[in-house]
Amino acid sequence: MKNQQILLARRPHGAVVEDDFRMVESEVPPAGEGQLLTRVRWLSLDPYMRGRMDDAKSYARPQPLDEVMIGGTVAEVVESKNPRFKPGDFVVGMAGWQQYQVTDGAGLRKVDASLIPLSAYLGPVGMPGVTAWYGLTQIGKPKQGETLVVSAAAGAVGSVVGQLAKLLGCRAVGVAGGKAKCDLVTGELGFDACVDYKAESFRADFKAAVPKGIDVVFENVGGAVLDASLARMNAFGRIALCGLVAGYTGQPIPIQNSRSLLVNRLLLQGFIVAEHMELWPQALAELGQHVAAKRIRYRETIAEGLASAPRAFIGMLEGKNVGKQLVKLV
Ligand code: NDP
Repeated sequence: MKNQQILLARRPHGAVVEDDFRMVESEVPPAGEGQLLTRVRWLSLDPYMRGRMDDAKSYARPQPLDEVMIGGTVAEVVESKNPRFKPGDFVVGMAGWQQYQVTDGAGLRKVDASLIPLSAYLGPVGMPGVTAWYGLTQIGKPKQGETLVVSAAAGAVGSVVGQLAKLLGCRAVGVAGGKAKCDLVTGELGFDACVDYKAESFRADFKAAVPKGIDVVFENVGGAVLDASLARMNAFGRIALCGLVAGYTGQPIPIQNSRSLLVNRLLLQGFIVAEHMELWPQALAELGQHVAAKRIRYRETIAEGLASAPRAFIGMLEGKNVGKQLVKLV
């Protein structure tokens, strides 16, 4: 049996290009005692992967060159010599950009496809959902009636943030690129307002969307988008700094309105969701219930086949995705 894998071939200079990756094919090794063989069904493409492609000091070690690209996956167990797993089980793990993986099962989480579609375990009931839940409930701590702003609002994390805020009784305002995304955010996702940061009228539209100022910001983007929020913060507002995707290809992301941090006595806290594993079971249980009951809705952008992963990843960084960017392997 052959295993197709995508490796990091070289470190990108600025924007990622397809030649930064290389596809290889190798024999699938047999599962040894205590091991299992899994076949990847779904691969998650996430902005954090861009950071790992650089050889820079960060919270996690860089993606090694010539090794399988890191990535969250839902896989099916096809063979098992490990008593914890049996063929047919579905597992969430980090198999990366490849078709098959032989593993000892460490870090794998069995999931049930009967209530929630498998792909959702990489979206609202997976890492992006927990990221939204953590930043909102543990840092933003919104109270009923407060105003929340979330950037990249049509994306995997942002779309969950606004819907959770609505369930907590807040006014939820999204910021997203383009009218189509904003229409989705205020329509299907039920936010109170969404502002297109690419529109010339962005600043004025933004001001109109937050008539009572802002109490909580869930920041995914940085730069001018964060600046617009800083300019409208209420006293003692909270900013959960989740991502700075506007700067992931090395662009400067200056902040003009840093004075607001002092004047409004703001709390700004960055976080890495993987450092809070003790809260994942609670978050996943809550998110699972919301998704099963359709209180949280989600969109997916699906690329077909492993070979499509590099192009889909580049597209996601350019905002071509709506909701969670996935690759369907089987
Ligand atoms: P998304 O599904 O939101 O996809 C990324 C989106 O970023 C694009 O769709 C695009 O939307 C937006 N974007 C890209 N470039 C820019 C830009 N220059 N200015 C404004 N928006 C831009 O990804 P995720 O939901 O997976 O991730 C969202 C954020 O959360 C990222 O910053 C990510 O790094 C962060 N994150 C952080 C974690 C943590 O532990 N701290 C864990 C997981 C994610 P648009 O069309 O609206 O521009």
